[in-house]
Amino acid sequence: MKVLKFGGTSVGSVKNMANVKNIIHDGSKKVIVLSAMSGTTNALLSIAESITNKNTNEATEKINTLHDTYFTVIDELLVHDHLNKQTKDYISSVFNLLTTHTHKAPSALLNNEIVAQGELMSTYMFNAYLKQEGIDSTLLPALDFMRINKVKEPDMESIKRNLKEVMDRVPEATIYITQGFICLDDKGNISNLQRGGSDYTATIIGAAIKAEEVQIWTDIDGMHNNDPRYVNNTNPISDLCYDEAAELAYFGAKILHPQTVLPVREDHIPVRLKNTMNPECYGTRITSDATENGIKAIAAKDGITAIKIKSGRMLLAHGFLKKIFEIFETYETSIDMITTSEVAVSVTIDDEKNLDKIIAALEAFATIEVDKNQSIICLVGHAIVNHDETYKLFQILKDVKIRMISYGGSKNNISLLVDSKNKIETLQKLNDYIFELAHQ
Ligand code: ASP
Ligand code: MG
Repeated sequence: MKVLKFGGTSVGSVKNMANVKNIIHDGSKKVIVLSAMSGTTNALLSIAESITNKNTNEATEKINTLHDTYFTVIDELLVHDHLNKQTKDYISSVFNLLTTHTHKAPSALLNNEIVAQGELMSTYMFNAYLKQEGIDSTLLPALDFMRINKVKEPDMESIKRNLKEVMDRVPEATIYITQGFICLDDKGNISNLQRGGSDYTATIIGAAIKAEEVQIWTDIDGMHNNDPRYVNNTNPISDLCYDEAAELAYFGAKILHPQTVLPVREDHIPVRLKNTMNPECYGTRITSDATENGIKAIAAKDGITAIKIKSGRMLLAHGFLKKIFEIFETYETSIDMITTSEVAVSVTIDDEKNLDKIIAALEAFATIEVDKNQSIICLVGHAIVNHDETYKLFQILKDVKIRMISYGGSKNNISLLVDSKNKIETLQKLNDYIFELAHQ
C-alpha cells in the first residue's frame, strides 16, 4: 500500500482537487493525507491571535471572511445538491465552533483546537467531492490514531495499534483519507506536528503500515538544487539519500518538514516528491541508496543569531567550551554552527527566546558580540568535503562577505553564515559557480 500526501495548493482550488482525483483514482489501495487548503492555517492562526488578544470583533470579522471563502469553494466544487448541503452543514458547524471560541478564555489548548479545523475541513470536502465523482473513499479521523508523547514525538506503538484498528473497521476500502498535521497529545488534548507537519504525518503512517512508498505531492517538480524563490536557473534533484534530504529540510528547503524522513529511514521506505500540477515529472526520490558524490543542493535558513564569545583566558585554557555549552544547556537553546580560534568562539542559534539571559551569563567571563539577522547557507551532498569540485565554493569569497564557515563537521555538509541581506546574492553566486558555470 502507498501513502500519498497532498499539500495546501493541491487541495486549494477546484481545478487542483480535480488533478488530485485523477492521480489517486487508479484502483489501488492507498492512504491519502491532506493538508488544509492553502492560506487556511495562517488564517486560523490569525483568528487565534485575535482571540488571545481578546479582540472579539476582529476575530469575528476574520471568521466571517474565511467562512465566505469556504462557501464559495463548496459551491464550485459540489454541484450535487445533497452533498453541497451536507458539506455546508459540516463547515457551518466548524465556523459556529470558532465563533463560540471567541467568547472563551484564551489558551494554548484553544489555539490548537482552532488551528486543527483546517485539515478537518479539507478532508471532509475532498471526501464529499470524491463521492460526487463516483469514487468510493473512507474518512479516517487522524485524532482516532495519531498521538504524540510527552516530548512531542510520535508515539509509534499506539499509532500502529490504533491505525490498524480504524483501518480494520473498513477493510474493503481502497481509498482511506485522513488529516495531516493534527494529533492528540499524551493527555488526550488536540495538538499538532508543527507547521508543515502533514509531510511528517504521511511518513509516520508510512512507517506504521510499512507502506511500499510515501509520496509527497506539492506544487513544484521535486526538491530543487537551490531555492527557486530567490535564485534563477535551479533544477530538480532526481535522487537523494535520507541524510541529504534531512539536512536540506532542516536547513531551509521549504518543500519538506524537517523530520519527514525520520520515521521511514529505518525500514528503507522510499519517499517520492511529486508535482500535482505536473504528475508526469519524475520529481525527487529519497532512499537509503548511496547517491553520486559532490555538491547536490544548497539551502538557506534565516533568522539566525551569531554570538562571538571572546576571552583572553581562553588562551591555552581547557574547560572554556564546557563553560559555554553549559550556559546554552541551562537555557535550553541549541547551537547550530560553531567555529573557534585561539581567543574566541562563535556560535549560532535560531531561537532568541533566552538570548538576553545567555548573554548575561556569558558576560561573566567573556566579551560578547551579537550579530542578528544572519542566514545559514548550507551545501549538501555525498562526501562533498573531499570532492574535487568543492573548491568552487571558495571562488565566491572574493565577491561576498562570509561571517562563519563550518567545513568538515560531517562529510556531507558545509555551512556558511552570511548577513541575511547578502543571502540572495550568495545563493545566486554559489549557483552560478557550482551548478551553472560548471556545465558551460
Ligand atoms: N496546514 C499545516 C500548515 O500549514 C500543515 C501542513 O500543511 O503541512 O503548516
Ligand atoms: Mg509543506
